[in-house]
Amino acid sequence: MKTHKARRRPVTALAIQAQVDRHTPALRKRIANVLTRLRDGTSLEELEAAVQVSVTAVMQAIPFDSIGQWIEDEGVPKILRNIFEVSGRLNGKILNQQLGLVRKIDGEEAVFVGGSAGYGSFSEAGSAISFDILNPRSVQAIQQARFELIKNITFESKEAIREVTLEAFQEGGNPLAQARKIKNSIGLTRSQSKWVNNFAREVETLANTTDPRVLSALRRKIQNRQLVTGRLSQKINALFDDPSRFGAGELNELVEDYHKRMVAMRARTIARTETARMSAKGQSSLWDQARAEGLISNKARRVWVVTPDELLRETHALIPTLNPGGVGLDDYFDTPFGPVFSSPAEPNCRCVVVLNPTGK
Ligand SMILES: [Zn+2]
Repeated sequence: MKTHKARRRPVTALAIQAQVDRHTPALRKRIANVLTRLRDGTSLEELEAAVQVSVTAVMQAIPFDSIGQWIEDEGVPKILRNIFEVSGRLNGKILNQQLGLVRKIDGEEAVFVGGSAGYGSFSEAGSAISFDILNPRSVQAIQQARFELIKNITFESKEAIREVTLEAFQEGGNPLAQARKIKNSIGLTRSQSKWVNNFAREVETLANTTDPRVLSALRRKIQNRQLVTGRLSQKINALFDDPSRFGAGELNELVEDYHKRMVAMRARTIARTETARMSAKGQSSLWDQARAEGLISNKARRVWVVTPDELLRETHALIPTLNPGGVGLDDYFDTPFGPVFSSPAEPNCRCVVVLNPTGK
């Protein structure tokens, strides 16, 4: 297999990636709040009753329908709009520089048309671009992103609950324990809810086993979990040292702590991915506008740039090679995941797309 040679990244890619990184935490916090509300808004008693009825009853006991409202309450659409806008502006600035339209005036860089008093003449001369977020396509792109975000969070969360509930039905057992298992899956994806429930099982075993070899192997296994750090890690050691200090309540607290960490992880993934997506949409919107204003030609190419750090996946590293010289303004990139219009290629993708305005 051909290995991907490290390329020098254009400064424009660095600027775009830095902006995505800067805007991710605000979204991460809000998304974590929504996922936590979904779990906290579910009553264990109702779940316990529902689990004795049907999968449908369980699904109805969880306020999935409120996700859209909570997304609004948390101000997520405003954040998405802001990311779209700052991305459009940044890419406008980059484009102006690429087209050689940035001039020094009194030692100050004049980039934004109409942005600073006295520099408006650029606009009148039709020689530079300023991002217009109010055009109908921008408004539509922002609404679409909000809708997709709600749909994806809801869909993945429901899938996880459906799977865990069916599993609980197959295993049978005490309804309260089943309800607790379902509750510990709320707000997570399918694999994440599996990890939480494996963790719960391991902790339970740790509290109820006396064989020292089994115990130390289990402790190592739990401690090796990526999210078992700090206070949680110390508590696992305490449980290992003296299980008698841990009743059912304390064990549940350990699982809840782990669940909380998993929610934070999912929120980070969603935030990173959606920030990258909004950034790419703002960028595309700016380029469409620039083309409509005749500032870039149809020969311009969009070029895929990876972030060459330890997180780079081989499948993403291949994308530049699969699209030598980039693709046209309206074309899709050929990727191992199928045709993709712009980054992100998949969750947690940190690639960006930059413009080669002349196509040369
Ligand atoms: Zn990527």
